Amino acid sequence: MREFDYVIIGGGCAGLSLAYELEINNKLKNKTLAIIETRKEYKRDKTWSFWKVFDHNFEDCVIKSWNNFTVNTSDSSYELKNKNFPYQSIDSEKFYRKINYILSANSNISFFKNINEINSENSLIFNSIFKGALDKSEMWQHFQGIEIETAKDIFDDEIINLMDFNCDQRNDLHFFYTLPFKKNKALIETTWLSDLEDQSLMDYDLQLENYIKNNLGIKSYKINFTEKGAIPLFYPSFKNDERTINIGSAGGMTRLSTGYTFLNIQEHSKEIMKNIDNIEKVKKFNLGKKYQFLDKVFLQVLKKHPEKMPMIFFKMFKSPSNTVIKFLSNKSNIFEDIYIISKMPKLIFIKALFS
Ligand SMILES: Cc1cc2nc3c(=O)[nH]c(=O)nc-3n(C[C@H](O)[C@H](O)[C@H](O)COP(=O)(O)OP(=O)(O)OC[C@H]3O[C@@H](n4cnc5c(N)ncnc54)[C@H](O)[C@@H]3O)c2cc1C
Repeated sequence: MREFDYVIIGGGCAGLSLAYELEINNKLKNKTLAIIETRKEYKRDKTWSFWKVFDHNFEDCVIKSWNNFTVNTSDSSYELKNKNFPYQSIDSEKFYRKINYILSANSNISFFKNINEINSENSLIFNSIFKGALDKSEMWQHFQGIEIETAKDIFDDEIINLMDFNCDQRNDLHFFYTLPFKKNKALIETTWLSDLEDQSLMDYDLQLENYIKNNLGIKSYKINFTEKGAIPLFYPSFKNDERTINIGSAGGMTRLSTGYTFLNIQEHSKEIMKNIDNIEKVKKFNLGKKYQFLDKVFLQVLKKHPEKMPMIFFKMFKSPSNTVIKFLSNKSNIFEDIYIISKMPKLIFIKALFS
């Protein structure tokens, strides 16, 4: 069986981002790489959105960028503008096509469906898949989005609606998210933060239909694309051997308070590429202890007081836009952290801290 210097398990966002980063930085000229991926074909399956707080490799896969966003509760709406850090959406199909095209030109890179097809005994392994089933009773961000197209121009395509809490909360945390790609085309998502045991929250089709009709006042539209997902808002612990480094969601690249992962994956890929010969350094990479701590407290509050969360998010966004974006993108300094913390209701956060 063939041996490889590097093996990437899972050719999704993290696996392909890492392979691309290694390839464009000439780290695969004299090294071999096997990518183990079970999917039959690459097609559009996700829309990755984030605030562009640093440059990344996929500007040509961006569907649209925005500088303005709103947050709504049932009785208020607040708009933020930011020219420094645009909010961007990436089309996963363009991302997969771009990377696979580049990788296919290097004969040192091979794809396999199963790790048993190769000899990985002496390889350095980058793993992006979870081992075993994840705990459904923990906190998850679960959602369904549809890209709709209307005959007439309906949307203001300069403003995204990041969180609209003006909807049924059902004792959990629920909001809608609207990304207007054009005046007649938008991705609309229904998003829940809850455990995954309550099936009654998963009537996503009906939630979207009602929201589009009653809140957005849109009577007729066609659906171009549907995406559905569940992001664990916890870090499942699973041990790997010394030669394996976890990447992507399985590698702790998800920000637990928000579910944002894409840009963290890009940063992690760069770090691995730079230190591919010093793997002990790579193993120390994480999103920052302070964010892990703050997100843990935040999720405690969410579990205990989901009904207070719309107000808490709303207050947080009533901060200077640079501050809130940097905080949510794990790029804030100590003064910005203190500013955001000062916006939080003190008593329930202190109680969560000691619970
Ligand atoms: C629908 C959706 C939308 C999201 N939107 C955003 C967003 O807007 N912004 C953001 O920052 N984050 C977002 N995320 C979170 C995160 O960015 C994505 O989940 C991202 O794809 C994580 O990358 P990954 O490589 O860890 O996992 P994946 O991209 O899921 O890659 C894992 C790969 O492993 C493969 N695989 C599975 N089992 C095996 C096996 N046994 N052997 C080999 N291969 C296997 C899968 O086919 C897959 O290709 C979203 C997640 C989902 C599900």
